[in-house]
Amino acid sequence: MLTSPSPRSLLCNSVDELRAWLHCHGRGPAKLLKQAHARLLRHGLDEDSFLLNLLLKSLFESGCTAHASLVFSLAPSPNLHLCNTAVRGLVNGAQWLQAVRLYREMRTLGMSPNNFTFPFVLKACARLSDLELGKNIHANLFKSGLDRDVHVSTSLVGVYAKCGRLTTARALFEEMPAPNVVSWTAIISGYMEEGRLEEALALFERMLRLGLEPDSFTLVRVINACAQLGNSLAGSEIHRLVEEKGALCNVFVATALVDLHAKCGDMERAREVFDRMPHRDVVTWSTMVGGYAANGLPREALAVFELMEKEKVEPDEFTVLGLLSACAKIGALELGRSYSARLDRRAFLCNPILGTALIDLHAKCGSAGGAWAVFAAMEIKDVVCVNATISGLAMNGHTKLCFALFAAMERSGLRPNHNTFVGLLCACTHSGLVQEGRRLFEGMTRVYGVAPKVEHFGCMVDLLGRTGLLEEALGLVRSMPVAPNAVVWGALLSGCRLHRNAAMAEQAAERLVELEPGNSGNYVQLSNLYASRGRWAESAALRRRMQRKGIEKLPGCSWIEFGGAVHEFKAGELSQHPLREEIGGKLEELGREMRRRGYVASTEVVLFDVEEEEKEATLGHHSEKLAVAFGLVVVPVGEVVRVVKNLRVCADCHEAIKLVSEISGREIVVRDTNRFHCFNRGSCSCGDFW
Ligand code: ZN
Ligand code: ZN
Repeated sequence: MLTSPSPRSLLCNSVDELRAWLHCHGRGPAKLLKQAHARLLRHGLDEDSFLLNLLLKSLFESGCTAHASLVFSLAPSPNLHLCNTAVRGLVNGAQWLQAVRLYREMRTLGMSPNNFTFPFVLKACARLSDLELGKNIHANLFKSGLDRDVHVSTSLVGVYAKCGRLTTARALFEEMPAPNVVSWTAIISGYMEEGRLEEALALFERMLRLGLEPDSFTLVRVINACAQLGNSLAGSEIHRLVEEKGALCNVFVATALVDLHAKCGDMERAREVFDRMPHRDVVTWSTMVGGYAANGLPREALAVFELMEKEKVEPDEFTVLGLLSACAKIGALELGRSYSARLDRRAFLCNPILGTALIDLHAKCGSAGGAWAVFAAMEIKDVVCVNATISGLAMNGHTKLCFALFAAMERSGLRPNHNTFVGLLCACTHSGLVQEGRRLFEGMTRVYGVAPKVEHFGCMVDLLGRTGLLEEALGLVRSMPVAPNAVVWGALLSGCRLHRNAAMAEQAAERLVELEPGNSGNYVQLSNLYASRGRWAESAALRRRMQRKGIEKLPGCSWIEFGGAVHEFKAGELSQHPLREEIGGKLEELGREMRRRGYVASTEVVLFDVEEEEKEATLGHHSEKLAVAFGLVVVPVGEVVRVVKNLRVCADCHEAIKLVSEISGREIVVRDTNRFHCFNRGSCSCGDFW
């Protein structure tokens, strides 16, 4: 902390005192520095190059770039020393063009720039991607022999790397007799910018083997490389290195580590680093919020944001993006809206990324109207934003609007991309439009030049499977130019389940177990299939295999937003809930009325219909039933009860909720992993087709 300069010290007349004051208060407030300049002029000291240089340096360091430029331009006869101070100040103040202009003036005036000038001018060249000037300087350096200076040659490497001449940069680097850490960081950064991450990491390893100590810049770079690669193994190595060097107290390094673990899907380790950080900035917090949201832990994302609020850190765009994505996952529309209000509404309408997140939130919360309203107000409607709207409308069953928007998109000259077709094919799937789907699938290559990817095949298999065209679906899977993934086989399995083709279902489920050996759902489905066909031994063997591998089932979980909070329900778990009696009473009351109307819980369905939740758990207490009962207790009459489930809604719950909507006269919306179900007056918007 600098002691604040007393105004009295500025009133003194002695030159020595002025000199001393400038020395001590070099980074003083701008106003005082400007006063000091006025006094230099008044005393006719502006030709004292030492004082002038000191003042110029202080002004640049205090961020008064404009005033510094003025002082420099008023200097009667700037020498090389003063010019160097100006070049350095301009570069540090990100005034790249001005710095380059000054360098050119120096040359015109016949000055000979030295090893204090070049690193900075070259940095400006790199920033401006001015390869011509870079080459020109390189030639001069070569003549003067200055290219052997490690700082100068490192800057040259930076220029070539930034201008996309990685081969030249690498050759220069390899010629350096003793590259330092900055040199290594420059070449590593060059490889990273070209997306050659593996090579960047290899260079880093070579640097370590040579016994060089990475600094925080190098560490941040290589940690980012690991994060982008999702390479948790190399990431852990670097994490260890960071610990050894005690670099965890550096906020940039530690934040990069948090991001690395989050990108590798390990939120526990991310949290561990986060909790140990002595300083965190808004980027650190946003990384945690976004990390939890991206890793399917929406409630943790919201909880960490609460902590952030307590510590009085102002959220930025990235924080809000993470929050919106978390809210979209749990269907918390009101909460998401209140978070979005943290930013100016214009920020959303001008920024396609933020706008798209808001559209997505509305769509995923079942508010197609809200999604459309945001889309209509967007100032820049880019293809990402249109695609989000098409998908949102599709998800909510507004097929006609989807195609209308697609037509408008074509008229406006915006080129559809592969995501556009994913949205449109989804729309066809949700409405069972086989003809349109086939036409679109075929037309995307022929008319729009977009080759179908595995996602598009997934949509088509889904569409054909749901409509019962199982042989055609299987034929399509076999004709795929790329290997079918779990989504494709999963779609086929859904079709088989719906149309009771156990033999083909078995085939699909077997492939799923191969493709995703860690996914519990696949084992359960296949073992249930074996059981349904009387192949008990195989069923039991599969269960044992699952146990041996230590694969745990994903517990069924439903969320409902009420009173500014998100309430979570797990299958069969009600004992801890403060409203357990009311919810239990509601379930009993509904159960009685349902039985009176002839409803029987269908356990047969559970067996073949490939229940994803533990079938032993009483059907009556599946998480979505608990959440719906809670909603009926607390949500005021006339308002929609909105529930989100983390698995596919089971056939029994689907039947039950249809009846509940009739008995209670309430509208109930349940979003599962596949789609929205809007239950009203005893029927569902999906037409029992999901
Ligand atoms: Zn259920
Ligand atoms: Zn439904």
